[in-house]
Amino acid sequence: MTKLLEENVSTLKGIGEKAREQLTRLGIETIEDLLMTFPYRHEDFTLKDIAETPHNERVTVEGKVESEPTVLFLGNKRSRLQLKLLVGPHLIKAVFFNQHYLKGRLSLGDTVTITGKWDRGRQTINGNKLTMGPQSEQANFEPVYSLKSVMHQNTFRRFMRNALDYVGETIEEPLPPEILKAYQLPTMREALEMLHFPQNAGQMKQARRRFVYEELLLFQLKMQAMKKNRKESEKGTIIQYDLEKLKAFIASLPFELTNAQKRVVNELCAELKSEVRMNRLLQGDVGSGKTVVAAIGLYAAITAGFQGAMMAPTEILAEQHAGALAEWLEPFDVSVAFLSGSTKGKSRKQLLERLVAGEIDLLIGTHALIQPDVVFKNLGFVITDEQHRFGVEQRRVLREKGIDPDVLFMTATPIPRTLAITAFGEMDVSILDELPAGRKEIETHWLKEDALQPVLQKMSSELVKGRQAYVICPLIEESDKLDVQNAVDVYNQLTVYYQGKFKVGLMHGRLHSDEKEEIMRAFSEGEIDVLVSTTVVEVGVNVPNATFMLIYDATRFGLSQLHQLRGRVGRGAEQSYCVLLADPKTEEGKERMHSMTETNDGFVLAEKDLELRGAGDFFGKKQSGMPEFKMADLIHDYRALDTARKDAERFLALDAFWTSEQFRVLRERLEASGVLGTERMD
Ligand code: ADP
Ligand code: MG
Repeated sequence: MTKLLEENVSTLKGIGEKAREQLTRLGIETIEDLLMTFPYRHEDFTLKDIAETPHNERVTVEGKVESEPTVLFLGNKRSRLQLKLLVGPHLIKAVFFNQHYLKGRLSLGDTVTITGKWDRGRQTINGNKLTMGPQSEQANFEPVYSLKSVMHQNTFRRFMRNALDYVGETIEEPLPPEILKAYQLPTMREALEMLHFPQNAGQMKQARRRFVYEELLLFQLKMQAMKKNRKESEKGTIIQYDLEKLKAFIASLPFELTNAQKRVVNELCAELKSEVRMNRLLQGDVGSGKTVVAAIGLYAAITAGFQGAMMAPTEILAEQHAGALAEWLEPFDVSVAFLSGSTKGKSRKQLLERLVAGEIDLLIGTHALIQPDVVFKNLGFVITDEQHRFGVEQRRVLREKGIDPDVLFMTATPIPRTLAITAFGEMDVSILDELPAGRKEIETHWLKEDALQPVLQKMSSELVKGRQAYVICPLIEESDKLDVQNAVDVYNQLTVYYQGKFKVGLMHGRLHSDEKEEIMRAFSEGEIDVLVSTTVVEVGVNVPNATFMLIYDATRFGLSQLHQLRGRVGRGAEQSYCVLLADPKTEEGKERMHSMTETNDGFVLAEKDLELRGAGDFFGKKQSGMPEFKMADLIHDYRALDTARKDAERFLALDAFWTSEQFRVLRERLEASGVLGTERMD
């Protein structure tokens, strides 16, 4: 940017030592700082039809003074000024408190503009702003800045005016003309004018659109430049898989892949074959069929002579994966082994020997996979399921076991696309956004907690048909012990309720892993009809015969978690049901329950969750690491983000981006951010 912008604000007319000090307190040193202080809202003084204005809403009206103003002194320096005003065909009252001096300015027949809160019942406007003359002579929109009562809005606006006039046309344009034209964005200079001194709502929006795009474009340029750098400097292994074998395997599956699965398989295979090291996130809603995609990817690596590994957060899940993958892959001469904390002694020793000798092609397990003595012969591809449960450190350790293995992280927590491409900016993202054909939507109902009886009847009617049910107990965040207690209580009640008819099982985090395993096995083989459980059952468990889920105290769970839980049913061909028992106290809680009954789409729910809780909460406090934007809002501006992402990709691939004048300002900013590294020679 030009020199003028870098000058201290004190160069400006009207800014003396005091104002300079006040501005410093607001974090404003240079003229650029001042111009880049964006208003956080605009006051709208556009005229509105009083007949259409709801009670208690702020409104601006223009009218004719119809009565001599009267003043009532209320004591203690308080006063009330009142007058009648003709607004179009409506005769209304206007009152001002503690501004009796206005009386001298107002005469019968004057045209005035008043802004205030509309009291519909009393047909009275409680004025707080009065200007003489018609509205057309004044600005409709006034920006409001966050000034922490350091200075008056009017003073600040005056400084802003001086700053804009001072720098005039010398402001450089960061965006290339092609972009300004294509998206009809105002130039930098125009946008600053429109933002700080808007004539109308349209201008304000235009200006905002421009700054949002610019901010997101720069952000995407940085992210992608970083990713590109990483790919160029960290070479991975070329996995030359056997396409014929892979095709034969896919043909052997009992179902046809969905289009989304085919697309993701292609993405994976292309990357395995390239020398780029894979660092990819696979997102797929519950039931979208991630496991088979993982199997195909792992088999690809195995046909190329590498070993594969797959890691899951719980023993139950790991075992389920091992079962499924062994069933699919063993007929293709793949030797599959399972390793967890409960693999001990001689069998563990033997397993490790076979692993290092390369006799095991595919190792599946829990985080036991990353213990130091687990050594692979040539690990080429690693998949971790439910990546958010694994710490960064664990992922690093696993990765270091192989010679630059490709790594795929899978998650069933649908992260809104917008967040995925920002928060996971350094990863590539694949999305399974389609469920296998023939799935029925889960019917979800929200009932008050006193409606337990009819719910149990409905559950029984499913059990009678030979189906199974989950009952999820309230979650007590602070206390694992209470969690278990709750589950035990519910288990006891249901055991009595179903005495002699159905078998009830209990599952919670305090059970020994052998016990958990046994219960899960009994449930999936149909020996247990009703599984009472805490949230340990949350991820990945696949029992297609389960068609009913009851969730106690559903308000305790976030939307994404509820959706995960619900995903345990609806996995077979039969209609499934999910009942939420909840008495939410807040509007937000009610909205969450409604959302659950309205959609089965995890991505929609994730967007909703994000909207209700905000991005920081969505990722949890620690993880939040979300980029902060001045103007852009990841939820509302997701289209702009997508546009910016595509543009950034295109720009970085252009030779002109590195040489031409039209990209100079963007280039300089990118260079200044330090993400380019030092290698770039051209
Ligand atoms: P998730 O993505 O939740 O991990 P799974 O991989 O467990 O889903 O798949 C859920 C169920 O759908 C499994 O029983 C799986 O065998 C089945 N499945 C996967 N892909 C398909 C498909 N293309 N057509 C039909 N069923 C499929
Ligand atoms: Mg899964």
